[in-house]
Amino acid sequence: MTSTVGAAAVSMPSSEAEAVAAVTEQPYATVLAGGTLLVPQHTLGHVAVERAVWLGRAEMDGIAQSNGRVTVGAAAPLAACTRLVAPVGPCAANIGDNEVNAQATIGGNLCAPAPYGDVRGPLLALGAVLRWADPDGIHTGGVEDFVAAGGARPGRLLLDIAFAAPAAGSFVALQRHHTQALTAMTVSAVRGPGGDVAIAATGAAPDACRLTSAEAALAGGGSIADAAAAATADADPYDDALASASYRLRVLPVYVGRALEQLGG
Ligand SMILES: Cc1cc2nc3c(=O)[nH]c(=O)nc-3n(C[C@H](O)[C@H](O)[C@H](O)COP(=O)(O)OP(=O)(O)OC[C@H]3O[C@@H](n4cnc5c(N)ncnc54)[C@H](O)[C@@H]3O)c2cc1C
Repeated sequence: MTSTVGAAAVSMPSSEAEAVAAVTEQPYATVLAGGTLLVPQHTLGHVAVERAVWLGRAEMDGIAQSNGRVTVGAAAPLAACTRLVAPVGPCAANIGDNEVNAQATIGGNLCAPAPYGDVRGPLLALGAVLRWADPDGIHTGGVEDFVAAGGARPGRLLLDIAFAAPAAGSFVALQRHHTQALTAMTVSAVRGPGGDVAIAATGAAPDACRLTSAEAALAGGGSIADAAAAATADADPYDDALASASYRLRVLPVYVGRALEQLGG
């Protein structure tokens, strides 16, 4: 089915296969998920959308858990994702108010540029595997591969996200009045079945990043304080309306320490 919203033709596929075909056929289409970012951007004329594909009826919102592996459809609402294990569940719960949280999707958040995209942090820490489609076919890779491939763009459709449920997970977020409803920084930590700890942050660098120096400090027998101090080596802090680079660098060790305390021994 196709209708028109503003100047854009919007198709409404009723399956994942139809959505892939609709997004990747020429002229390449823009994916419309919850619309919480795209609709206002288009309405205000900040983003030109000629052809959009709405995922609301494409049955891409399922969440499946089997043999310790979790698979989340890209169109799953953040509100549904709040039930997932830490650090993903608490991260989803931290995004927006109830209205935004009910409408926005995990795929839309992952595809949104900073200062949005908080779910990239937990998914990086979990080593999540993404599946996406573009005119060259179906691809799989990590968050960093999706970003390196150019992230969200017309003609590309994120399909789903899969990860192994960790033995433990934690999530902390920097809340301050200056950031209004947005989160300036998050830190996610997960412990794998073998006891290894992975840590990732948003807001410490222009995109979500793994804190490998902090991970190495822990793996080498260092304390939480050692790991927290080491985290600054992984940061590439920047100034924006939410926080200055120097503030980001100062608070990163605090939030790494909190995430590791929350993760427990
Ligand atoms: C008041 C408010 C507070 C917020 N606070 C936060 C916050 O603290 N942290 C945070 O991270 N975010 C925050 N957000 C942003 C919010 O997370 C996004 O609005 C939301 O995640 C976008 O999801 P959506 O499904 O609505 O995407 P849409 O608006 O539909 O799309 C967003 C972008 O992603 C692309 N896209 C969407 N789905 C796919 C897909 N499956 N494949 C390929 N491309 C896709 C679209 O083409 C578009 O470019 C806030 C937003 C509001 C309005």
